[in-house]
Amino acid sequence: MKNSYRKFSYITDIPGIKTSLLNMRGKGFPKQPQLNKHPCAQSDGEIFDEEWFKSTVAQKVTSHPANKLEFPFSGENIFEQPLIGFVRGDDPIFAEYQKIIGSFHFTPAGIMAWQANNNGVAAPKAEDISVVSYILPISEKVRADEALREEWLSERWAQTRRCGEIFSQILAEEIATYLMSKGVLAVVPDMTPMFNYKKYPDVGWASRWSQRHIAYAAGLGTFGINDLLITEKGVAHRCGSFVVNLRLQPDRERNKDIHAYCLQYQGINCLKCQQKCPVSAVSESGHCKERCGARVIKSTGYCNRNYHIFIYGCGLCSTKIPCESAIPKLTGPRL
Ligand code: SF4
Ligand code: SF4
Repeated sequence: MKNSYRKFSYITDIPGIKTSLLNMRGKGFPKQPQLNKHPCAQSDGEIFDEEWFKSTVAQKVTSHPANKLEFPFSGENIFEQPLIGFVRGDDPIFAEYQKIIGSFHFTPAGIMAWQANNNGVAAPKAEDISVVSYILPISEKVRADEALREEWLSERWAQTRRCGEIFSQILAEEIATYLMSKGVLAVVPDMTPMFNYKKYPDVGWASRWSQRHIAYAAGLGTFGINDLLITEKGVAHRCGSFVVNLRLQPDRERNKDIHAYCLQYQGINCLKCQQKCPVSAVSESGHCKERCGARVIKSTGYCNRNYHIFIYGCGLCSTKIPCESAIPKLTGPRL
């Protein structure tokens, strides 16, 4: 556990540099796990069903040593108990995403075919694949710290952006590796060399595996006017997912209205997130990714100078708003 600040974080914070720069271009990830093609027939009776995934993710959030902040908050938990959802690999929403987000967006079957090819086995059919999506709600202490800020993100929030993303990757990678060791094909799409998050022509900033869209597909929430996903634990969270060669049953209903939980979109005067944004990247017409992205990138210097970590972030529009930690009640003055 760290007990002091690192020096010269611009060059010494290798995990931060990987998380903020290399991973966006599909670089810096551990090697893909290898599929055990001859798993022991006499296994310990483990059944990889929906309950297994829910309890395994929850267990990691509860007891994994990586779910912790660094100095000067060493030992504090980053995330609280997760929400989990499932999407079938043959769900038509993935074809929709290729139209709405872009043809570059992965499909579960496409990314699984890549993993199958890596391991010299036949690609599974889309109906034999599922996506496991999880929401990691940010702890109350981190949220309270961020709520006090008006210009730049708080130190706890910056650490959450860095250590929390690293934990989310470890969580997904450990589960995928375990499944592969048991003969179940699995892959973490945003930890593959083909992944990227970049500016696409005619689309703007986008990723090849949008975690928020995957979480929406799994019935975990709907979008706010600031583009964040409003879940039953609010918008202050990080989300992740992985793809498995198993038939898992979705158990959350997907809301057809993609803005069902946002007060403003439901005709109730709110825009509290707009008031929190220091660069007016949120307005009645939505979220300006360009303006937001420029502000977020600018925070790299602030985080290095003040918090001694290589990371960027903002999140000011995630706290002190009605949808911070719950779905807001649809009451209030109508527009
Ligand atoms: S603060 Fe209000 S307007 Fe902004 S996302 Fe939340 S509910 Fe919607
Ligand atoms: S993340 Fe920051 S810059 Fe982006 S919309 Fe929210 S408050 Fe504005």
